[in-house]
Amino acid sequence: MRKVVAGNWKMNHGMAATRGFLDRLDLADSELEAVLVLLFPPAISIGVARGALRPGSQIRLGVQNVHEAEHGAFTGETSAEMAVEAGAAYALVGHSERRHLFGETGPDTLRKVAAARRAGLVPVLCVGETLVERQAGRLATVIVEQLDAVLGDEREAGSVERGDPFLLAYEPVWAIGTGETATPADASEAHGILRLHLEERIGVDRARAISILYGGSVSPENAGELLRAPDVDGVLVGGASLDPGSFARIVRAAGDGSV
Ligand code: PEP
Repeated sequence: MRKVVAGNWKMNHGMAATRGFLDRLDLADSELEAVLVLLFPPAISIGVARGALRPGSQIRLGVQNVHEAEHGAFTGETSAEMAVEAGAAYALVGHSERRHLFGETGPDTLRKVAAARRAGLVPVLCVGETLVERQAGRLATVIVEQLDAVLGDEREAGSVERGDPFLLAYEPVWAIGTGETATPADASEAHGILRLHLEERIGVDRARAISILYGGSVSPENAGELLRAPDVDGVLVGGASLDPGSFARIVRAAGDGSV
């Protein structure tokens, strides 16, 4: 399975900075063929990113959040359909900042995954425990609950089981933007729990075809060993994805292992 390297820019890089990033991102076509590279700019920069990609580029764009409705009186929101029109092919759902800063719940994540699918976006569901939950021994309970908020729904489970694309990202909240990274063994443990649960829900073959990304202070220095850990199929990178040089090094670590 091709490794995945996804960059989540959060609320960074407006239109000019997005153009600048893509002008300076130095990755050969062969490097982009070996790894699936996804970029999640702010919604307002997606159209510019699409225009700045070289024709035929293998880089795919995504949106960081969508509203569950197609359109309507929802000031400040972006629908999945609008994100597609701007050039997105993927949608992050349930990022910990959405859950913890904006109060998104499990049912919200299910509605957003459904909205993403309706528009033809591939959902990337993010799950992860807080430090308090981890210290209370609740890692498995929390991440399985967050996954089940989506896959517990018959329609969604059926769609993933039939082979509709779906990505999962394990992002321990205590490791996001903190400089604290889970060890490769921590990441493998959590990914193993998620994989096993996927196997129970949608069957072994299908579960094995779903990429599970690790996110939380991934850098060019630690990406290689995280990407070599069992069950780690890719990385979701925040801070280190803002600089084209460090992002390219992470993509190389996922490809041939060199940084
Ligand atoms: C993220 O925002 O998804 C993330 C993992 O951030 P960082 O790499 O900065 O910890």
